Amino acid sequence: MEGDTETQNLRSVLITGGAGFIGSHLAEALLERGHQVTVIDNLSTGRFENIAHLTGHPRFRFAIDTITNEVVMDRLVSECDVIFHLAAAVGVELIIKNPVHVIETNILGTHAVLKVANRYRKKVLIASTSEIYGKNNQVPFSEEDDRLLGPTTKARWSYSTSKAVDEFLGLAYHRQMGLPVVIFRLFNTVGPRQTGQYGMVVPRFVQQVLRGEPLTVYGDGQQTRCFCDVQDVVRALIGLAECPQAIGQVFNVGSTEEVTILELAQKVLALADDIQSSRGAREQGSRGEGERIVFVPYAEAYEVGFEDMRRRVPDIRKIRALIGWEPKIPLEETLRRVIGYYAMLEASRR
Ligand code: UDP
Repeated sequence: MEGDTETQNLRSVLITGGAGFIGSHLAEALLERGHQVTVIDNLSTGRFENIAHLTGHPRFRFAIDTITNEVVMDRLVSECDVIFHLAAAVGVELIIKNPVHVIETNILGTHAVLKVANRYRKKVLIASTSEIYGKNNQVPFSEEDDRLLGPTTKARWSYSTSKAVDEFLGLAYHRQMGLPVVIFRLFNTVGPRQTGQYGMVVPRFVQQVLRGEPLTVYGDGQQTRCFCDVQDVVRALIGLAECPQAIGQVFNVGSTEEVTILELAQKVLALADDIQSSRGAREQGSRGEGERIVFVPYAEAYEVGFEDMRRRVPDIRKIRALIGWEPKIPLEETLRRVIGYYAMLEASRR
């Protein structure tokens, strides 16, 4: 079978950013499938704890280093069959606070990976983002849609632009040099190990509810997102890596289950109450929803003049047609796992 041959060809996998939220789940899934997995991560946003449980595994190894270290990357790339390039600076808060770091990490990092990959003719899957579509409101977004970005004076758009340069560069390496490159645009991805430190809404809401703090809904809460479980995302990435026809193409990867941020806050509150009351823990539900959700203006949450995306929904027909992928895990199930994960973390800190 072609798929089996391809899996054989992809025996040894290098994951840049493999100690991050998505990278660590990908590493786990690949180990389960029998691959050799090497992670390179400088632990800037990734955390060693995310991969600590894998360190004893006979087919797992890691390098704590940056992807711009040419000597290290040369060796790791020469020894692998395929590279998942996930190392990047992400998160809206980080972009606003440290745009130099974001632009440099994303553009120079991807350039470094592509250069070495090309030296050894190794397949590269590059992580991109739904931010690519900018503030286009014509949902669902499909891969060939135009991008609509704000001015360069607004830091937010530097992230989208840095990732667009990554995509251009990847596609150029493919077209001009014949390098096997696949690009996947991740929409909002959620699951255990995602940190709220860089502004991501689900871990923030979950930590807030567990600490008895009000949930901070930005703006009017009517903006929508589709949250995809990280395990579904990982399945998509492996499927794309194993599919020779995916080379030279761009794919959306995300859920199509659209929720408003206010609905998300309400779901997190209801699930946390449900979990806590089934454990006989203190009842917070007696406080009215009004006290448990606060609306925070964007200017206060981010910066004056901040532009948010009103809706963000992927068109996933392309990946479905090619590899038969679609998300399977409902949001509620993911939220339960995320609540369980953070409850465990909080308990272990006490
Ligand atoms: N958001 C919010 N409260 C928070 C963090 C985020 O209401 O504490 C909102 C944010 O303004 C956005 C949505 O949740 O509309 C998703 O934010 P996130 O940063 O997770 O992802 P992105 O904006 O990149 O889709």
